[in-house]
Amino acid sequence: MRGFGDAAVEEVPDPVAGPGEAVVDVACVQPSVTECMLLAGEPIAMHTVLAARLAEGPVRFGGHEFAGVVRALGPGAPDGIRVGDRVTAVETAPCGRCAACRASHPHACPSPAVLGFTGPGAFAEQVLVPARTLVRVPDGVTAAQAAAIQPLAGALHGHAAAAVHPGDSVLIIGAGVMGVLHTQVARHGNAGLVMVSGRSEAKRELAGRAGADLVMDAVGDVEAAVLAATGGVGADVVFEAAGAGTFELAARCVRRGGTIVMVSVLPDHAGAPLARLRERGITVVHPRSGGGVFEHALRLVARGDVDVDCLISHRLAGVEALPEALAITRDKQRYGALGPAQVDLFDWDRAA
Ligand SMILES: [Zn+2]
Repeated sequence: MRGFGDAAVEEVPDPVAGPGEAVVDVACVQPSVTECMLLAGEPIAMHTVLAARLAEGPVRFGGHEFAGVVRALGPGAPDGIRVGDRVTAVETAPCGRCAACRASHPHACPSPAVLGFTGPGAFAEQVLVPARTLVRVPDGVTAAQAAAIQPLAGALHGHAAAAVHPGDSVLIIGAGVMGVLHTQVARHGNAGLVMVSGRSEAKRELAGRAGADLVMDAVGDVEAAVLAATGGVGADVVFEAAGAGTFELAARCVRRGGTIVMVSVLPDHAGAPLARLRERGITVVHPRSGGGVFEHALRLVARGDVDVDCLISHRLAGVEALPEALAITRDKQRYGALGPAQVDLFDWDRAA
């Protein structure tokens, strides 16, 4: 990446695994929406850090949703990981040395390593990761599924952060990748009534198949429909997964004392109806991603409890296809894509 909106695939030296590190051959990788927004120069979190890095020269940017095969391990790799293992990795690695990490608050680490952002990521044939972030992929899970596991882990974190209680009514605003995954997790979790609003007909259909009780067209009166479905009370939990502009709707649809989970990546100074949130005692949470949940997400996919394949509509081949994958993921509607465009680098079944 040489500047905002300016990225190309170029030759770089192969990475070498130092102490505690692993080199992974990337079998499949998909861009995240956040990466597409950052590449385009949108003023979301991490934009200023990226701008500062770009001022010093080209940045090897992006690639944290991937699956691959361990090529090499440096000294001190954790037990249970071997060369040849099929893996993915947790994208954020707390430093392990600062005051927050030592106090067992890794989410408060001020300088975590973030794959593809603080260093080179998996938009490459080989990626170097801290070996402790590797997660083994169970048999029967494809590289495409494993590359799509991070958003599912995020949805699981979201439901945990909201503490959805048995029978809670849940509204999911947005029927994109996160909306559909949240619908599936809600259906398999504690939620009672599951409501989803979305703009695209194809994605509303996916949300319906994922088990939503009430699927609404986002251009309609979502607030009225939610109030009607909840006896005029509002939803116990609202997942805001549609991007800027819908937080206001979330605040109107959540019940008094309810919870809004901020799933979308928002601009730095996105507005919020603070007085209403305060007056109604609404809790706003933003789940972090992280370890442990990846293993569970992979098991859910292996068992067929959650379907991530329904969101994979575009697959490209070879590392040269990365810019095209970014373009498709950035503008899914135009390309008729349901989720991120995946790039396949090699077939790990044939390699085995
Ligand atoms: Zn730390």
